[in-house]
Amino acid sequence: MARPVKEEEEESEDEEIEEEEQADGWNDWEAGDEDSEAEFLCLFCDTKWNSREELFNHCVSDHAFDFEGIRKSMGLGFYGSFKLINYIRFKVASNKCWRCGLGLQSKESLLNHLHEVESFNYDCSAPWGDDKYLQPFLQDDALLHSFGGDDDDDDFYDATFLPDERDPMVEVVNVDEALMKSVIDEEDILDIVATETGVQNEIIKGMDVRQSSQVPSKKSKDKSLKVSFANVMAREIKNVNESYFGSYSSFSIHKEMISDKVRMDAYRGAILGNPTLMNQATVMDVGCGTGILSLFAAQAGASRVFAIEASEKMASVAKRIAKDNGLLKQNGEPAGAIDVVHGMVEELDKRIEIPPHSVDVLLSEWMGYCLLYESMLSSVLYARDLWLKPGGAILPDMATIFVAGFGRGGTSFPFWEDVYGFDMSCIGKEVTEDAAQLPIVDIVDSQTLVTDPCVLHIFDLVTMRREDMDFTANFELTPKSQNSPSSSPNMAIWCYGVVLWFDTGFTSRFCKETPTILSTSPFGPKTHWSQILLTFKEPIALLSENSLQNSETARKSGLKIGTDVDPAVKIMGRISIARASRHRSIDASMEITGVGHDGGTQTFPVQIFNM
Ligand code: SAH
Repeated sequence: MARPVKEEEEESEDEEIEEEEQADGWNDWEAGDEDSEAEFLCLFCDTKWNSREELFNHCVSDHAFDFEGIRKSMGLGFYGSFKLINYIRFKVASNKCWRCGLGLQSKESLLNHLHEVESFNYDCSAPWGDDKYLQPFLQDDALLHSFGGDDDDDDFYDATFLPDERDPMVEVVNVDEALMKSVIDEEDILDIVATETGVQNEIIKGMDVRQSSQVPSKKSKDKSLKVSFANVMAREIKNVNESYFGSYSSFSIHKEMISDKVRMDAYRGAILGNPTLMNQATVMDVGCGTGILSLFAAQAGASRVFAIEASEKMASVAKRIAKDNGLLKQNGEPAGAIDVVHGMVEELDKRIEIPPHSVDVLLSEWMGYCLLYESMLSSVLYARDLWLKPGGAILPDMATIFVAGFGRGGTSFPFWEDVYGFDMSCIGKEVTEDAAQLPIVDIVDSQTLVTDPCVLHIFDLVTMRREDMDFTANFELTPKSQNSPSSSPNMAIWCYGVVLWFDTGFTSRFCKETPTILSTSPFGPKTHWSQILLTFKEPIALLSENSLQNSETARKSGLKIGTDVDPAVKIMGRISIARASRHRSIDASMEITGVGHDGGTQTFPVQIFNM
């Protein structure tokens, strides 16, 4: 899967929304009742209490939530307690049960549900462990602040509960500062958006109003900006998602993917070639599109296939296709294993009840350009954590990003140099300058590579965490061991930048009968993912260590390493790839150092790329 890289989408509209919502945010704050005395807003309902003790007593009797009990049994320290409170506020805002994760239709149903579910299992690992819950859900949450100023509460700060030796009283201030800088987590905003699609603004504003009317606010205006920011973020995520899933409603993109033989052979081979894995299995296909992978899974003998698709159009198409091929699961009729469910996998609990950890095989084609563009991997990890059985299979289960240096042939210089006999190389120069900021998606001829490739980063989908999608990796590139027959062994070759590509592995860990690799390498047949080129600001001359004669002379004359007079023997690099603030985009940074024959180094300015 690789959707075309899009230019900035509907920028002016976003700006308008931002202005609108900031205005709304201010109004909400000003509408507040600043004289209210009770500060402690319940974690579950709209009641307010005069002290933390009163609030927690109410939580025990009315919401079956025993804060003190949990804190003591689980040995929660300051941070753990802080996170627990924020976690619960996040969940409640999206009408989700903090204990079992079930999403309810309304606040009322949630409150009833809390009395029905089994009491909390203190032996389980804390679902609020993620550091994102250090961020207060409510601005100026009196409950959080109460932990900082209560001298009677020494045991609460017992050093044995703390993750380190720091003074918690000081930490309250520091945590606050850190939180001012932190960014609202998109998954939680998604939860909120998911709960009230279309009215998510009102939900977040609702919290704003509730806070301003019930909790006296000291610095309401500048804090309201943060809540407005949440509004804008939520709207932005919703817009980007709409445009993203909208792009998958076009059949042409599915045709392109299904026509990609390398892709199809790998998935088909892995699914049909491993009958022991697939036979009678419960499968989940995250992002089924036309449903092609689910059809393979059903063909391979899966007894139940949940085919999840967020694009409404594709979900109905996939349903029709499964039905036309006699593979749709229908009440009262025999056969069909496939259940097509429309919705984001992150919202699935609103559409269908799939018991937690009941899926044997998690299947998905989630890879974007440069592997991570589109950030769909996080949806697969979300599904893994919720539905995959312990020890269950993920197809594919490994992904590796590779890097190699490319030469002049990988740039557009040769193309523009001779256009029907005319020299248009000025265009080539401009294009290459732009390419030093914008990654180029293109098919790279392996002949244009001037270094041997090396592994940049490996993801193990079984063990990786969502935050591991952002990574920094070092690499070393040396001149290609087998240069082209035309190149002279003592002549430097110019490296213009690096090419990235990926492989995904259906390894023998799960695919015991037929392990398979899907490669998007320039050495193999081309795929619709092409490769990604990150172009250097200036090319670096390279010559293999054995061929060098004159680097000492060059060094004395003060010339840079990486020129043709003093070529580098290797390039040391560091690339970071991280999800960008713009939802579903990624940023890459590249730091490059040329290493001379005598070990001297030349570092080039860091380059940042966005896609
Ligand atoms: N599995 C199909 C389609 C792959 S393209 C095939 O191999 O041909 C990825 C699909 O995943 C798109 O149709 C997209 O709409 C869907 N998708 C992406 N993120 C999703 C999410 N979070 N939940 C559900 N579907 C998603």
